[in-house]
Amino acid sequence: MLLNLAVLPGDGIGKEVTTEALKVLQTIASQYGHSLNYEEALVGGAALEAEGVAITEATLNMCRASDSILFGAVGLPRYDQEPMERRPEQALFALRKTFDLFSNLRPVKNLPVLQNASTLKPEVLNGVDLVVVRELTGGVYFGKPSQRYTDEGGRKAVDTLPYSEQEIERIVRVAFELSKSRNNKKKVTSVDKANVLNTSRLWREVANEVGRDYPEIELEHMLVDSAAMNLIRKPSAFDVIVTENMFGDILTDEASMLAGSMGLLSSASLGSFKNASGGQFGMYEPIHGTAPDITGQGIANPLAAIGCAAMLLRLTYGLEKEATAIETAIENVLQKGYRTPDLYESGMTKLGTAQMGDAVVAELKG
Ligand code: NAD
Repeated sequence: MLLNLAVLPGDGIGKEVTTEALKVLQTIASQYGHSLNYEEALVGGAALEAEGVAITEATLNMCRASDSILFGAVGLPRYDQEPMERRPEQALFALRKTFDLFSNLRPVKNLPVLQNASTLKPEVLNGVDLVVVRELTGGVYFGKPSQRYTDEGGRKAVDTLPYSEQEIERIVRVAFELSKSRNNKKKVTSVDKANVLNTSRLWREVANEVGRDYPEIELEHMLVDSAAMNLIRKPSAFDVIVTENMFGDILTDEASMLAGSMGLLSSASLGSFKNASGGQFGMYEPIHGTAPDITGQGIANPLAAIGCAAMLLRLTYGLEKEATAIETAIENVLQKGYRTPDLYESGMTKLGTAQMGDAVVAELKG
């Protein structure tokens, strides 16, 4: 099979971890008789500096001509004070909108070998295996008006949180389909703030309507504040969580600590788009950011990015065997005691970013 990808490493550790994911993809391709063909482009702060915008039309066209996108991360501290249109994050919003990537899947598993890496007690972590389905193209990150202004009362700002029934219906359906396909608890937890927000009341109403099509799946509703608490109280009770854009953004960072580190969580952003080969177009990215505090030190954990390569093979190409091989290799290197500093405990072997990538490659090669 020809694997035809657009690679957008972005800023900070995005570049460092994407290099390792590519190394692993290249290994898998040669082991299983596929050929990997990819084009790389600047995005985020790197593109703002070299090309004047966070993502150019030429880069979007390059993505259109690819089967899927392998993405690193974007964002640099020096852009923090810039107006929204001069921010690296504009690249993410443009990609999500252009490719209608409304559904962001974020699996969270606790591997027994990493139980001590989490700040939570091992007994709380036993059996954690959940997926957060985050709505990605609607809600407050896209709502208009969104602006700052000044009037006689002083400085003010407004953001808007809109959702339509169609947007809610399609993402909730993704969650039910996912729960159906998983050999797990057959449960969808829909997270909202229906005691306060109108959009959440609509969300709950539509979730109930969709739920009627899936009588074999339990649907529970949970307020976002309660979900934040239950994620650390009894995380193993969850199967699939579905929620709106901002709640999903926040809850998944919290959930990353169930796995042990931000450097472990991969994600897939999917939508209605089919690629040129008729497969599912997707954008695969670690959930972490550019980590300016550790950029350039060669110590970032590349396992989330490598996990993205596995998700890409599974969801865009249906290459289950290859995806599982990567996931098994990740578990095996951890089992052997290899750790990047974010996961390090005494008695383990400390590795840098490239060494961890090499360890996964060596594991694949057996
Ligand atoms: P961050 O995820 O970059 O970092 C949070 C903490 O986790 C830091 O201490 C960092 O060192 C650590 N960390 C993150 N990934 C790691 C890895 N792979 N290995 C080891 N440690 C890791 O979040 P932040 O500091 O809030 O944001 C930094 C920049 O990244 C900001 O500009 C932000 O806007 C951007 N960001 C981008 C994305 C994205 O591109 N999708 C997502 C989140 C944040």
